[in-house]
Amino acid sequence: MTLIFDHSYARDLPGTYLRERPDPAPAPRLLALNEALARDLGLDPGDLGRHAAEWFSGAALPPGAEPIALAYAGHQFGGFSAQLGDGRAHLLGEMLTPKGRFDLQLKGSGRTAFSRGGDGKAAVGPMLREYLISEAMAALGVPTTRALAVVATGEEIWRDTGKLPGAVLARVAASHIRVGTFQFFAARGEVDQLRRLTAYTIARHYPDLAADDALGLFDAVADRQIRLIAQWMGLGFLHGVMNTDNMALSGETIDYGPCAFMEAYAPGTVFSSIDRQGRYAYANQPLILGWNLARLAEALLPLIDADQTRAVDLANAQLESIAPAYRVAWLSVMRAKLGLAGADPQDGALADDFLAAIAGADWTLSFRALAAAAEGRDADLLSLVADPGPLTAWLARWQSRLAPDAPAALRRANPAVIPRNHLVEAALSAATEGDLAPFEALLDAVRAPFDPEAGREAFTRPAPKDFGPYVTFCGT
Ligand code: AMP
Ligand code: MG
Repeated sequence: MTLIFDHSYARDLPGTYLRERPDPAPAPRLLALNEALARDLGLDPGDLGRHAAEWFSGAALPPGAEPIALAYAGHQFGGFSAQLGDGRAHLLGEMLTPKGRFDLQLKGSGRTAFSRGGDGKAAVGPMLREYLISEAMAALGVPTTRALAVVATGEEIWRDTGKLPGAVLARVAASHIRVGTFQFFAARGEVDQLRRLTAYTIARHYPDLAADDALGLFDAVADRQIRLIAQWMGLGFLHGVMNTDNMALSGETIDYGPCAFMEAYAPGTVFSSIDRQGRYAYANQPLILGWNLARLAEALLPLIDADQTRAVDLANAQLESIAPAYRVAWLSVMRAKLGLAGADPQDGALADDFLAAIAGADWTLSFRALAAAAEGRDADLLSLVADPGPLTAWLARWQSRLAPDAPAALRRANPAVIPRNHLVEAALSAATEGDLAPFEALLDAVRAPFDPEAGREAFTRPAPKDFGPYVTFCGT
């Protein structure tokens, strides 16, 4: 088995990374291997399985790997850190596959020069969590980095809660170029590096643009990110840490930390323990998108125009278009989720009013129940809300806007299964104790989110009342 590696990032962008080696795992044991993804990448899963424990834990490097840790900066919860970087990750290289060029990165693979106070490690639970949620996102049709494998290292690591089994995640990504990567060089006034990074990013992700078209790059990234966040919002997905270092130029969802899916619809929903101000609350995500894109525009200013006053004017004009463009993208997501025919000027109000009518009800179940409602059976939907009055009135308006194939289209647009918080927690606790069966069952369920619920009702239900308010943690 050989992986075909290239190292264009290392080759084209000297000075933007450090050569670092993963820690050798003392007793690597494969916990999860993404056979479907392996096949997609032109790899034989059986062959890969024989090497995975060693290659994807740092115990041995796959032939051709040249590990590096990337430099980046970032705004974290609004405050700027001029130097973050891969503190617990190693980029092994870019795999050349039938589907294109993909970064292969180990996460949890040991300390680097960017580790600051951290141990460079990760625990089994959070790495399986990234595996599970990113697989769910991929199955839901959301651009995302993918998990290729999780390997237990055989090492114990220390966290607030005590000792935990360590693990490494092997992650496949379109790239690991972040808004924070641009900020790193902008903050240091390294305009030549910024120029090279821009040309590299354009060549890799937006090859139709001219190599020096910084404003074009900004627009293209904004376009992908707008559509990405609109998809998140449609699914009730909360990223949890939309720091600028966790926003990828490729337009993929990246860095699954304290992320989770909202159950009862409440715009202010927050899960992350450290997000006390609710900066990354559900309904704030589109605003943070605009804020993060403003940071990208700022970083690109020296390349947008030699005349900085003019550069600022150009960037501001683009930034002003973000909110309306987001509304258009969101409306297009909502039209699909509501099964509407074509477009009507009243659709925005129709969507807004649906959300108002389901406030407090389970987000996923409410949308899923629309398919039956379109077939004339609205009892399930109405049973989800405390006061069915507004929803009944809304259904009457909605009927006249339905596409002819609405029931089937609605079942394709609205998942029955999302990774339910209580099931994720149960699966990760069991896995930490050595039992992978619940993780595997949940993974199977989230990989077919739109399939009928019959026979797998346990995966569709919200958390039981005694589950309590859900809190997630990051940096684990
Ligand atoms: P995150 O919140 O996971 O996006 O990480 C933010 C920054 O903290 C990145 O620079 C990470 O590399 C770094 N980091 C997170 N966890 C650790 C750890 N256990 N050891 C070292 N660095 C870490
Ligand atoms: Mg991160």
